[in-house]
Amino acid sequence: MADIFGPGGVLSKRHPGYEFRRSQLEMAELIDNAFLKHQHALIEAGTGTGKTLAYLIPAIQSGRRVVISTATKSLQEQLFNKDVPFLQKYFAPDLKVALMKGRNNFLCRQKVHLMEGQPVLKGMDEIDWFSQIRDWEKLTETGDRAELTFLPDDSELWNRIDARSDTCTSQKCPEFANCFITGMHQRAQEADLIIVNHHLFFADLAIRQDDFGSILPEYAAVIFDEAHEIEDVASDYFGRAVSSYKLDELARDAEQTLRLLQVSAPTVRRSVTQLRERAHGFFDAFPAREGRYPFEPSERAGFLEQNREAYDSLAMGLKRIEIELAALTAKPDEVINIARRAADVRRELAFLLESDEHNYVYWFERRGKGVFLAATPIDVSEILREKLFDQFDTVVLTSATLAVAGHFDFLKQRLGLQAVTERVLPHEFDFREQALLYLPEALPDVRHASFPTHAAEEIARLLEITEGRAFCLFTSYVQMRDAFERVRSKVGFPLLLQGTAPRSVLLERFKTTPNAVLFATASFWQGVDVPGEQLSCVIIDRLPFAVPSDPIVAARVRALKEDGRDAFAEYQVPEAVLALKQGFGRLIRSRSDRGILAILDTRIQRMRYGKIFLESLPDYTTTQDLAVVARFMEKS
Ligand code: SF4
Repeated sequence: MADIFGPGGVLSKRHPGYEFRRSQLEMAELIDNAFLKHQHALIEAGTGTGKTLAYLIPAIQSGRRVVISTATKSLQEQLFNKDVPFLQKYFAPDLKVALMKGRNNFLCRQKVHLMEGQPVLKGMDEIDWFSQIRDWEKLTETGDRAELTFLPDDSELWNRIDARSDTCTSQKCPEFANCFITGMHQRAQEADLIIVNHHLFFADLAIRQDDFGSILPEYAAVIFDEAHEIEDVASDYFGRAVSSYKLDELARDAEQTLRLLQVSAPTVRRSVTQLRERAHGFFDAFPAREGRYPFEPSERAGFLEQNREAYDSLAMGLKRIEIELAALTAKPDEVINIARRAADVRRELAFLLESDEHNYVYWFERRGKGVFLAATPIDVSEILREKLFDQFDTVVLTSATLAVAGHFDFLKQRLGLQAVTERVLPHEFDFREQALLYLPEALPDVRHASFPTHAAEEIARLLEITEGRAFCLFTSYVQMRDAFERVRSKVGFPLLLQGTAPRSVLLERFKTTPNAVLFATASFWQGVDVPGEQLSCVIIDRLPFAVPSDPIVAARVRALKEDGRDAFAEYQVPEAVLALKQGFGRLIRSRSDRGILAILDTRIQRMRYGKIFLESLPDYTTTQDLAVVARFMEKS
């Protein structure tokens, strides 16, 4: 690895942005060693380490088929379009790499062909988009909707023509050989590296569990980038869920299938209309307030007492569709698919409303126009140990935020991971010089009624010093909106508020508006990259403890307590520490970045656990004095 990453090594001659980074070399050596010794590895590597090449090169050299799993589709694309071509050019000309995404990212050729010439499009926009998609279908090699820049993110049309497995007849489809999904699977079968995202990875792992077939081909090792997210993603895919959207989708697909295949089944059509009404009746029975709430057996009993009729009628509606579709004389595979889906939804609903399996937490959520019912595993460590860490002898987890106070105990315990190579790599940035951590002394406790007033004044003072150019990050929407209103009257900088435009639009506005300030919550705490002066300050109002009343958090806390453990120290504090590291990680993205970090929650200074937060952060220069903050900014 030294011959590649070291000074005077191969990279120094071939990579335009090369600079020697000791941590990058060490990371590559650790991963190379993990491959050689067939071990798992946990590596915390900060921004600026050059992580991607440090794991890609050892992965290629291992000679094994390696799956690389990233947090988002855009990170996948970055790897595939930027790093892979570089490696192919200079290191491994024969390297075969496949990019895999969820099926709903791809076009279903069969649906497009069936829709042609049928009066199923709504409005001029859909007619225009469909015609462009039809032309594109003939030219595209991947069928990936990312190529369709004209199509809005929330396009209803796309939902009707994507390649979801729900509506796919697979080998029985006349387009199977030509299908974009078949092409993606073939490329993956031949690939040395397969680039996926965590959602696809765990969707596959959960299906393998059921022995139902799989999405990914056989592979020998896995590297997770942004690995701090995998507990949440795994929890989703090893859980069970039904939503109002799922029922709407089923009804819509049933209608569309019957229409496109010209199956005359007036009784089924009536039953589908009824199903839609029954689904609305059932989901309307849930409380109207937004948020996520427990739906454990005791709450469910109360719900069923009041709404037994709505539930039974929905279950019967699903059953009726299964029976009526089965009774049709001509049954194309698409129709059998719909009947199977109706049966699946009925079984999932029965599980969510009637099961009392103890290792799940049951909850419902109202979000926007949707209602979600779910059962999430309280603990995924056993599942991951059995399905992942015991199955593959090299699993590498890396991210800028894995360790708490220099240790990986928290993550290992949550994920069921043992006996690994572990390393927190030194940072490549000079945090003492580049960042100043401001901990105001005089603010009241965050739980005190006067905190919002004082916090808003403090935010305004900081913004005056940094001339805006700040992220103000909050742990709840209510606090975010409240602070926004209070600060708005005090400063003249352009203020942006999460929720007033899509995330990507807000981020773009922030980058291009001089002196902008963004007020945001959790979704901006991670995966956001604004290098340079435009982001010179990150203000966090409270230590980011997960909301204790959230059903999943509450169930995990309860389970630890029942086990005689200290849930606060072992779960809530470490979770919040990692979240804080993520949030602060937005500020310094390159060696030339400088700026202020502020945490207005004085518990970090007063409480014993505050020390764990401070020990987990990089070695920032710290001050309690606003004058020092002003002097630091003057030097910028
Ligand atoms: S195989 Fe499935 S996804 Fe592919 S074109 Fe046919 S129906 Fe669509």
